[in-house]
Amino acid sequence: MIPIISKLPQTPTTIFSVMSALANEVGAINLSQGFPDYECSPVLTDLVNKAMQDGHNQYAPMPGLLSLREQISQKTEKLYGATYNPDSEITITAGGTQAIFTAISAVIHPNDEVIIFEPAYDCYAPTIKLMGGIVKSLELHPPDYKIQWDMVKKLISNRTRMIILNSPHNPTATILDAEDIKQLNDIVTNRDIIILSDEVYEHLVFDGQQHLSMARYPELQQRSFIVASFGKLFHTTGWKIGYCMAPAYLMQEFRKIHQFNVFSVNTPMQVAAAEYLKDENIYLSLPDFFQQKRDHFREGLKQTRFELLPCSGSYFQSVRYQNIADEKDSDFAMRITRETGVAAIPVSAFYSRGTDHQILRFCFAKKQETLDKAVDRLVKL
Ligand code: GLN
Repeated sequence: MIPIISKLPQTPTTIFSVMSALANEVGAINLSQGFPDYECSPVLTDLVNKAMQDGHNQYAPMPGLLSLREQISQKTEKLYGATYNPDSEITITAGGTQAIFTAISAVIHPNDEVIIFEPAYDCYAPTIKLMGGIVKSLELHPPDYKIQWDMVKKLISNRTRMIILNSPHNPTATILDAEDIKQLNDIVTNRDIIILSDEVYEHLVFDGQQHLSMARYPELQQRSFIVASFGKLFHTTGWKIGYCMAPAYLMQEFRKIHQFNVFSVNTPMQVAAAEYLKDENIYLSLPDFFQQKRDHFREGLKQTRFELLPCSGSYFQSVRYQNIADEKDSDFAMRITRETGVAAIPVSAFYSRGTDHQILRFCFAKKQETLDKAVDRLVKL
C-alpha cells in the first residue's frame, strides 16, 4: 500500500448513504434520504425518450443546452425579477451538490474563511476544507433555528470570503424572512463577501409564504452563486441535474472548474427539461402538492409521541423524541430503522461538533400510503 495523506481525515461516509443502505438492508420504510418514492410525470420521461430517439445523444455545450438556460432565465425573471444572461450567467450542473462544490472551489483559496450555519447540509464543510478554506460555523438551535445575526457579525473578519445560506433549509425546514435579508445585507455591504445560496427547495415553501431568493435583491444578487435542482422540481433526484446562476464575473470562474470536472451534463435530460419547463404549472403547483403531504404527515405524527418542530419549507419534517427515548440521535435512528422499520436522519450529522438535540429528520416526499404505513409503525414507539 502506498502511504496516502487523507485530504479529509475526519470525514465519514455521508449519512444519506449510511441510512439508505441500512433501510434497504433491513427492509425499513426509508424516510431518511430525501427523494420521492413516486414516479415523475410520464410527459417528462416521454420527452427524454423522444430526445434520445431524435438523436440528442452527444455532448451538450459545456455550460449546458442554450434552450434550457433560456427557460431558466425566463423563469427566474418571472419569479424573482432578476435578469440572468443565459450565455454567461447560467450553467447546467450534475445536480445541486456539484454546483455547490464547483462554486466553492472557484473562489475559495487557502485560509479564506467561510461562514456556515449548522445544522448544515453535509457537503459544505468538507468542500471548503478541501480548498484549504476555514469553516466558521454558527450553531442554530431548535425549535426555530433563527440565525443570530449579532453572532454572525462577531464571526466576520477581513478573511471572510463567503457566507453559505440555504433557504428553505435542509434539515430544519425553516426559511429566511425579510429581517434576515436586511441583516445579511447590512453585513455584506462594503465587504468582499460572496454569497453561496443553496436554494434547491425554492418551490417548496408553504402557507402562502414567499421564497426570498437572493435573485430578488440586486445588491445581494450581484455577489451570489444561486444553486437550484431539477431533482426537486421534477421529482427526479436520480437524474442528478441542476444549475447554478451567478453574475458573469463569478460564472466565468465557475465554468473554468466545471469544464474540467464535468465538462457538460447529459444531453437528453436537458432537451426534455427545456421543453417541460415551458409549462409554468410544473413549478407553480409544487407548494400545494408538498403542503398536502406535509399536512397529512404532520396529522399522522400527532398520534405518535414525537414532538413536531415547525415546517415552513423543504420536504423535511423534524421531530424531537425526548418523550420516547434518551439515547443519542444516531443510535436512536439506527435502532428504530431496525426495530420499528422506519429510517430517519439523525440531525447531529449536520453539526461539525456532533451537537445532539435528540431530533430526527423525516422526508415526506412520499406516497400517502408510505407515510401512513410509516406512521402506523411510529405510533408503536
Ligand atoms: N438532499 C438529500 C437529503 O438531504 C440527499 C442528497 C444526497 O444523498 N446526496 O436527503
